Amino acid sequence: KLSERLITVASFLPIGANFADIGSDHAYLPCYVCMNDETARAIAGDVRVGPLSSARETVSKYNLTHVVDVRLGDGLQVLKENEVEQVVIAGMGGSLIRTILEQGQDKLGRVELIIAQPNVDEKNVRKWYMENDYQIQDEVILEENGHIYEIIVGKKSTNLKPLTDREIFFGPILLKERLPLFYKKWQIEKDKLSRVLKQMGQAKTKDHTKMAKFKIQLEWIEEVLEDAK
Ligand code: SAM
Repeated sequence: KLSERLITVASFLPIGANFADIGSDHAYLPCYVCMNDETARAIAGDVRVGPLSSARETVSKYNLTHVVDVRLGDGLQVLKENEVEQVVIAGMGGSLIRTILEQGQDKLGRVELIIAQPNVDEKNVRKWYMENDYQIQDEVILEENGHIYEIIVGKKSTNLKPLTDREIFFGPILLKERLPLFYKKWQIEKDKLSRVLKQMGQAKTKDHTKMAKFKIQLEWIEEVLEDAK
């Protein structure tokens, strides 16, 4: 059975999706999508040989070799130009997702929808969306196996509504919704950031620029948590 996290990621793909799943590992997501929608087509990419052979195994096991194409390569390099309309990148850090998108600009020509599920550093994804004309259309926060995950859906837009730094940090939709899980996440992040700042304050050589940035972020978090009371 597919994880709730990946089922939620999949739920944002349209019927008849023609998409790439980058960093697909076992290719569970593209197989799930193509099993439930016989008009869907997928490319499963991964940069490592081990995950790629797992992907091939899953695809053969479910007799999906005609609809899920497994390819070895770095990021969006596995794609030809204009090959897909949607891209999924899930289960890695936000900075890696951002790098993959940045380095794959030439493959995004026809890509109308990007579904990203960063494990950390979600703000990097939002920032890239904003700088590249993808409007955040949906955001989900969910907890599974003791981890809190965010899913951020960007849709190509011609009249982008810019985000504030605070919206980039928390997520514009998550910030509006303020679900209990959102507060739980930011309580954890607040504790982490306080510890980091304390350590930075005790270090012999201090990075004052970074500390100032973290202090602002800590203030934002405290403000948001204050509203929860
Ligand atoms: N997407 C699946 C999920 O969300 O459950 C698998 C996530 S797994 C933790 C991350 C996968 O990304 C690994 O299989 C890894 O080999 C792959 N990966 C890491 N960097 C990559 C890159 N630059 N291009 C393609 N795949 C990459």
